[in-house]
Amino acid sequence: MTIIKGIGIFEGIADARAFVIPDHGHNAIPKFSVTPQDAQEGWERFLDAREKIKTQLRSQIAGAADSTQRQIFETHLMMLEDTVFVELLREQAEESRVNIESVLDTLASSEAEKLRAAGDTVLAERADDILDVFGRVLQTMLHNEVFDISLIPEGAVVAARKINPSDALLLFKRRPAGLCLDEGGAGGHLAILTRGARVPAVFCAANAHTIIQSGQRVILDGKTAQVFVEPDAKTARAFADLLTKRSRQNAVRAAQSGKPCVTQDGKKIALMANIGSPEEIQGALEDGAEGIGLFRTEFLFMQNAPEFIAEDAQFEAYKKALELMKGKPVVIRTLDAGGDKFISAAQQKADVSKNPLLGRRSIRLSLAYPEIFKQQLRALLRASVYGDLRIMLPLVVSLEEVKAARALFEQAKKELSSKKIPYKKHIPIGIMVETAAAALSSDVFARHCDFFSIGTNDLVQYSLAIDRENPLVSHLYNEFHLTILRLIKIIIGSAKKAKIPVSVCGEMAGTPEGAAMLVALGIGTLSMASSSIGKIKHALSNHQKKELAIKAKDILLSPATTDVRKIFAARRTAKNTGRA
Ligand code: PEP
Ligand code: MG
Repeated sequence: MTIIKGIGIFEGIADARAFVIPDHGHNAIPKFSVTPQDAQEGWERFLDAREKIKTQLRSQIAGAADSTQRQIFETHLMMLEDTVFVELLREQAEESRVNIESVLDTLASSEAEKLRAAGDTVLAERADDILDVFGRVLQTMLHNEVFDISLIPEGAVVAARKINPSDALLLFKRRPAGLCLDEGGAGGHLAILTRGARVPAVFCAANAHTIIQSGQRVILDGKTAQVFVEPDAKTARAFADLLTKRSRQNAVRAAQSGKPCVTQDGKKIALMANIGSPEEIQGALEDGAEGIGLFRTEFLFMQNAPEFIAEDAQFEAYKKALELMKGKPVVIRTLDAGGDKFISAAQQKADVSKNPLLGRRSIRLSLAYPEIFKQQLRALLRASVYGDLRIMLPLVVSLEEVKAARALFEQAKKELSSKKIPYKKHIPIGIMVETAAAALSSDVFARHCDFFSIGTNDLVQYSLAIDRENPLVSHLYNEFHLTILRLIKIIIGSAKKAKIPVSVCGEMAGTPEGAAMLVALGIGTLSMASSSIGKIKHALSNHQKKELAIKAKDILLSPATTDVRKIFAARRTAKNTGRA
């Protein structure tokens, strides 16, 4: 038995025969000198191949199953139509007098490298797109046999060095049991698509595609990010048990998806979903989400830039989300771009900050570009008539920001009224409480806000001075630091006094210990990735709200440590050990 480790992309266990995709993409592209006549023929070969791929992409756009798929193909088509790239290719081919395939390979790689060097995840995804689409052109030019994905047997654990997002969409139609890649990242297009398709997956599993042979039995565990090749009998038995246990758990959770989340002593906790696009809503409803607690609009901008900035396109997305939620609450957060989330190369270029996480991001960026901000506010106002919309402002630190945002909101209303465009008269406006500034002055903010949502991801980052993305300090990033407990207590106190609702939408809401600590402090609404809803419902049903509250009170009265995680560890009772 060989064990390969990587990073988990989607939880779940696969136990099936492997199918290894041959690594054609890695073949070296030949390089040789050419005569002017060869060069001309080469150029025509390029134009023909490009046309062929464009035609394929157009039919893929027309047949795309959802907007995510469509956007990927549209991005690829846009890249093929980029006249600057094509002109550069022609110039370099003329200057170098080597075969066009080699020039194209070098140019695509260097453009992709430039994007990667920018150190931004969105641009890194664009780098993958460049390699993907021009790789297709190259394979066509070289008449290389491109691996036919439809040959992959259904239900296999598929292993590969890497796969392109466009191939992944075909692959998922083969209903793979699991996916194991040598490369890939947790935040890329491919990871988004894999989670969307709910395929158990492990990426960054070094040399997996050379270690695994087609036909071998493979057990892949997306939760622990491990892949067992030709597992021994003991491992196979352990996983068979685990698989039975997890499918029993899933069945119990699915059956309970329509039931409320209630603690042992009867306290009802509302569980909402965090989403990045309206396409995620169907899954969220099936998982039992009672509303959308956080719609991160920057992901829409990232996936669609620059076209998406248009007000009408935004309006359509917000309207769709509200309609699908059929009157249940939908909290839409205004653009939270900047910091680690640039929406375009231009935005990144314009940010000269040495520390973008403390720079012109989130609400600061929106207020710096009032016309763009108003476009979003108008789109939200227009959509408001289709459901229960609530608008949330990110990274607020001063009351002036709230007042300025509200003033622009009033202007946006006037602009719509003058054109007789309808909108709801009262739309709650709240803030993300995710900085120590907002938390410690929450009493003041509460008088000017209709609700609070606590963003623990940033609250921890900014209060403990620990970069949430930096692997070198990730062991210090602690949502269970006593300081976080104290800050949340203060925020809840301010919200209660002002009689406004308060919820939590940071990642800790979707972990059993995190949810327990938040309920202990008095939180009644948690918002999380919808795949965690069943798990949290189950975890909280094993806790007594009263008991949790006593624990929190004790810690806050006489703290003995700055790390309180153990105190809120998931409880297992004799009755439920078999299902936990
Ligand atoms: C947070 O900071 O906790 C949050 C929910 O927002 P984001 O993760 O988008 O910064
Ligand atoms: Mg945040």
